[in-house]
Amino acid sequence: MPATVGDVVKCLSKMIDVLHENKEYLTELDSAIGDADHGINMDRGFQAIAKKLPELGNMTDVGAILKACGMTLITTVGGASGPLYGTAFLQAGTALVGKQELEPGDLLVAGEAALKGVVMRGKANLGDKTMVDALTPAIAALKEALAAGANAAEALEKASIAAETGMKETIPIQARKGRASYLGERSIGHQDPGATSSFLLIRTMAEIAHDTGF
Ligand code: ADP
Ligand code: MG
Repeated sequence: MPATVGDVVKCLSKMIDVLHENKEYLTELDSAIGDADHGINMDRGFQAIAKKLPELGNMTDVGAILKACGMTLITTVGGASGPLYGTAFLQAGTALVGKQELEPGDLLVAGEAALKGVVMRGKANLGDKTMVDALTPAIAALKEALAAGANAAEALEKASIAAETGMKETIPIQARKGRASYLGERSIGHQDPGATSSFLLIRTMAEIAHDTGF
């Protein structure tokens, strides 16, 4: 079944909860190689989305909803992650403008646009120890699974597994972008906070897709 605006709002609502539950964990990861605020930043941004959720649920255009989320993240979150995730949601929303419901293929269109936005804004390459290291393999896995005929829930499950692997692969490598790169070799041995939040967001999408029969 296609995903409705109601399903999108359900997904946003779960993202809000998941980031709130992981606020300390993400902040702890950022305390090792950054400035101990990633969980605080993500929670602040998604709590601001939470305030707008009733209003967003009354909208009919999925693209417009995601764009509103992006603007909210950009305007409420300081730090690198606000503009980066904000751009991801803005670009995903722009790619879906006019859609009142989503087919599985729309996930790929939105995901590719989101990743492209993050890369354009942050200029990180794969292996720089950033959220790009979780997002890139996730979108590739999504694409492969959909091409093989998977439904949205199955394809997102594959994307979630790929994001988790990419997240773990940030541990042994040195950061080359963002605040963690200031540490040079001392960034080695720690999991990237942004790759971790990206994995959590994709896992949430997979769970909602499964629950809603998408
Ligand atoms: P800040 O680093 O400004 O304190 P956050 O702590 O909220 O912001 O976010 C840090 C995360 O942002 C990093 O773990 C990394 O994944 C991501 N990040 C930082 N710079 C970039 C970049 N140029 N491109 C992609 N992701 C980045
Ligand atoms: Mg930080």
